[in-house]
Amino acid sequence: MPINQRQVNIDLKEMPTQWYNILPDLPEPLPPPKDPESGESRLKNLPKILLGECLKQEFSQERWIDIPEELQHIYHQAGRPRSLFRAVNLEKRLDTPARLYYKAEFYSPTGSHKVNTALAQAFYAKKEGYERLTTETGAGQWGTALAYGAALAGLKCTVFWVRAVYSWKKDRRNLMELFGADVYASPSDQTEFGKTLYGKDANHPGSLGIAISEGMEDAIKDPKAIYCLGSVLNHVLMHQTIIGLETKKQFVKFEDYPDMVISCLGGGSNFGGFALPFVHDVLKEGKKIKFIAAQSKASPNLQGEYRYDFADYAEMTPMLKMYTLGHKIDMVPIKGDGLRYHGCSPILSLLRDKGIIDTIAYPEDEKHVFERATQFIRAEGFLPAPESAYSVACAIDEALKCKESGEKKVIAFNVSGHGFLDIPGFREVLNLK
Ligand SMILES: *Cc1c(COP(=O)(O)O)cnc(C)c1O
Repeated sequence: MPINQRQVNIDLKEMPTQWYNILPDLPEPLPPPKDPESGESRLKNLPKILLGECLKQEFSQERWIDIPEELQHIYHQAGRPRSLFRAVNLEKRLDTPARLYYKAEFYSPTGSHKVNTALAQAFYAKKEGYERLTTETGAGQWGTALAYGAALAGLKCTVFWVRAVYSWKKDRRNLMELFGADVYASPSDQTEFGKTLYGKDANHPGSLGIAISEGMEDAIKDPKAIYCLGSVLNHVLMHQTIIGLETKKQFVKFEDYPDMVISCLGGGSNFGGFALPFVHDVLKEGKKIKFIAAQSKASPNLQGEYRYDFADYAEMTPMLKMYTLGHKIDMVPIKGDGLRYHGCSPILSLLRDKGIIDTIAYPEDEKHVFERATQFIRAEGFLPAPESAYSVACAIDEALKCKESGEKKVIAFNVSGHGFLDIPGFREVLNLK
């Protein structure tokens, strides 16, 4: 492999045909979801909330789970496998001895990695006879991904979108509508729970926890509908491991291997998808890798408490053992809205508790991360999503530390999405004209 090679990919034939389920490899068993001490059982409701196949995967102890062949073809149609780039220009501009590699999840029809699980969930929903998918969305990337998955599978889709973001991302809203989805600002007047908040304040900014409650209520009331969640849960992270599994094969072609694995973290799906196949190497093969989750000070959930908490505002979900800021916390709005969630996935929370994952939180004004994103687009040509800008910022900061110390570290980071529909956010933070 020439030293200045900038990109590798793998063939369709080499694309992973199984997802990696880390549950049997964790240092100790994952604490299961549980019911709160009082009130009705939420666990009993799980089969009404989750797809049958996803519920099975959620608790499976099988290390490898087959990606259905038809879904492999749909992944291919969505542009998988996606390239791994060596950031040759960026390294030169930074004058760092570190070697930087980034995974191109921004090559996605809807703009983010979220299609990896959206396509899987829409595929299973169709097979299980459902006609409509319901969900919530924060930044809008998940809603768009599910609208796309539903469209390809021939299903309807209803999206409850946190009002504070719905209001400024009109283009993304229209993209969901082009896919055929019905999109409501949340809290809405479409659900009983939404009405309790909407009735008091029609401009209520909403939150991801509130929108989850609305999406779940909508699905529970309609037997032909099923609710889909785009992050946090074990099966979602597992669907995303296609990112890291491809990346490992691509590193073999680069004849290299990472010392550091970095990505942004909201609920944990892109970080988990990218990092868990490498965590396997640390737990099972004695590799040494530093993992860093890049977060916002608006929602540094990995610096919260490790305890049982609800995943939604209205307390309709079972309780999950996770790092949490509390399910009713108020968070300031940021442009990287996809990072604004009170809890972190149980799998990553356990790994954090065991000291395997490090974390950093960047200031809420986002100036630093967006300036790093600007360095990235000028050197590499790709505009990261606001959330992905946190991953880029962390990687550049680490590369600059290597410049100080002279260490030739190999830094791998994930660029979870592109920012083409988020330019108003960049305009505001960076004072563009
Ligand atoms: C949703 C999203 C995130 C944050 O969610 P995770 O589940 O933590 O990955 C990050 N980047 C992009 C582009 C997203 O759409």
